[in-house]
Amino acid sequence: MKRIGAHVSASGGVENAPLNAAEIGATAFALFTKNQRQWDAKPLTDESIAAFKANCSEKGFAPEHILPHDSYLINLGHPEPEALAKSRAAFLDEMQRCEQLGLQWLNFHPGSHLKQVSEGECLATIAESINRALDQTQGVTAVIENTAGQGSNLGFRFEHLAEIIAQVDDKSRVGVCLDTCHSFAAGYDLTTAASCAAVFAEFGNIVGFNYLRGMHLNDSKKGLGSRVDRHHSLGKGELGLEVFRYIMNDPRFDDIPMILETIDETIWAEEIKLLRSFISDESGSGR
Ligand SMILES: [Zn+2]
Ligand SMILES: [Zn+2]
Repeated sequence: MKRIGAHVSASGGVENAPLNAAEIGATAFALFTKNQRQWDAKPLTDESIAAFKANCSEKGFAPEHILPHDSYLINLGHPEPEALAKSRAAFLDEMQRCEQLGLQWLNFHPGSHLKQVSEGECLATIAESINRALDQTQGVTAVIENTAGQGSNLGFRFEHLAEIIAQVDDKSRVGVCLDTCHSFAAGYDLTTAASCAAVFAEFGNIVGFNYLRGMHLNDSKKGLGSRVDRHHSLGKGELGLEVFRYIMNDPRFDDIPMILETIDETIWAEEIKLLRSFISDESGSGR
């Protein structure tokens, strides 16, 4: 079954996210478990945690269909020791919040070298950051998102993801999330069925579908290889709809959270319906 949702608001408390997701007809969702633009956050209260779990079970969301995203401030590959320590502490806090909520995945952007160290050094630092967080938590998998490669962000090549995974000690608790906008902006052509087949085959060879834990479904305002991260509503950008038709009919994307991070939340319900309409009965991966 295809699990489709959006990155919904958790304003007023994390317990509101599953309600917001149910309202748009989602069968998966993403959320921030704290304000994504601030370093510090109040701990989750017992009431909020209990309400989150109750609302998820009432609305039919299992932990594997929920893809929390960490704060944008965190850089697990930071070249400066103090800033790195701050990021690692914040990432651990994010992992622990997931643990408290009974969640399995934590989706994050790998990190940036800020032009101070080599790509290889930065990737090693990111892997070490993941190892430390995994050592101090249980049950939560670190889900590395591929990036558009804007600025000095790493993770824009499948080889970067593979390199990080290779250096993570516990392979059972590391995974990846592919963002269609980021892939396209990074130079992976996803505009036709043939190019999608080639790109996903490359992903399969270099990273492996056994590590795929989620998808972000976004169109792109910027062109192929632009290395600029600007999401757009489905079918309204440079990427077009073919990739989404492709994904909806490929069983390798079954049963993982597939999350819209498109720019107009008022049409998320329609976008979910559009994606479902792409699923052909013969594929055997329908709802
Ligand atoms: Zn994304
Ligand atoms: Zn993005």
